[in-house]
Amino acid sequence: MSKVYFAGLSSSTKEDNLLQRIKRLFKYAGEGVSYDDGLVAVKLHFGEMGIDTYMRPVRVRPIVEAVKEAGGKPFLGDSNTLYRGSRGDAVDHHITAARNGWLMPAVDAPVIIADGLHGHEFYTQKIEGKHFEEVKIGAAFYQADGIVGVTHFKGHGMTGFGGTLKNLGMGCASRAGKLMMHYNVKPEVDIKECIGCGKCAIWCPADAIEVENYASIDQQRCIGCGECRIVCPEGAIKVKDSSTNYELQEKVAEYAHGSLKGKYDKSLFYNFVMDVTPECDCPPWRKGPMVPDIGVIASRDPVAIDQAAFDLVKNAEGEQEAGVDKFCAAHDVDGTVQLKHAEKMGMGERNYELIDISKD
Ligand code: SF4
Ligand code: SF4
Repeated sequence: MSKVYFAGLSSSTKEDNLLQRIKRLFKYAGEGVSYDDGLVAVKLHFGEMGIDTYMRPVRVRPIVEAVKEAGGKPFLGDSNTLYRGSRGDAVDHHITAARNGWLMPAVDAPVIIADGLHGHEFYTQKIEGKHFEEVKIGAAFYQADGIVGVTHFKGHGMTGFGGTLKNLGMGCASRAGKLMMHYNVKPEVDIKECIGCGKCAIWCPADAIEVENYASIDQQRCIGCGECRIVCPEGAIKVKDSSTNYELQEKVAEYAHGSLKGKYDKSLFYNFVMDVTPECDCPPWRKGPMVPDIGVIASRDPVAIDQAAFDLVKNAEGEQEAGVDKFCAAHDVDGTVQLKHAEKMGMGERNYELIDISKD
């Protein structure tokens, strides 16, 4: 059974405040990990311009310190997006990261956009997956000696929820890799719900959407990135064939495996189960949280940590009562498909023991 360490949010001493607990989580989850002066990617999502629920730099600084104490040279990494937001190339991405507070004085580690100026810098990693025999990983992630995944756990319109597997799978992939995962997810517009605002067309990277009274999608041009579904404020864009959502989750898990291959023994993962919004940190706005803030968890097992975060949200009282899969209620997508596939590939296990280190 895998170990997942939990830190609660409430404390009354500076020796045991959340920042100290975040650092102590590294000690527990990362027991035995040493980096021997190696380069360590702290895998983040720097937040789209306009969102405020992405990871806080102040909460990442203790992790950077812990990596250094374990002998590593940390850098803060993400790869460019497919869609036309504020992180579509390395220049915009750096500017957005800086405006969102990801600066040396705050975090004490540099930002590196892992797949280069236009998202074309990658290495091919061989895997034995159901969908892929090889994956295209952003160069800096491939070259790093270890990865510390630091994830804001929240909902996601295409994968039900976005945790460690999503952060690594989609987030370490180069542009070509992202296309490999997305290409057969083809959304359609429900014209009864569309208000013709045009937000989807602005974000579509393939110029596949026209808006005249309501939006319509050119299925030949669509590359299946799913961003229109995420940014639509009315929930008017649907993926009718849910098997494509499930396939996407499996592909994400395979990419996460590719990003970790050869470095499982030098990797660990954090999920921040706070600001659990229904949508991810890609649209430049956010909806209210689905449950109250719960805490921070860390583990060496990328499957167990997502299962634990999912269970914490499911068992919390929120918009729906405890015991309801709130992500499925929001998106009509069973997000546990990614967990089952990752477990089947040997990435980790869904069985876990949750160990509270808060009062240690
Ligand atoms: S129409 Fe297709 S390519 Fe355009 S944003 Fe939607 S899913 Fe992506
Ligand atoms: S974003 Fe949604 S509501 Fe706005 S035009 Fe597109 S489909 Fe219609």
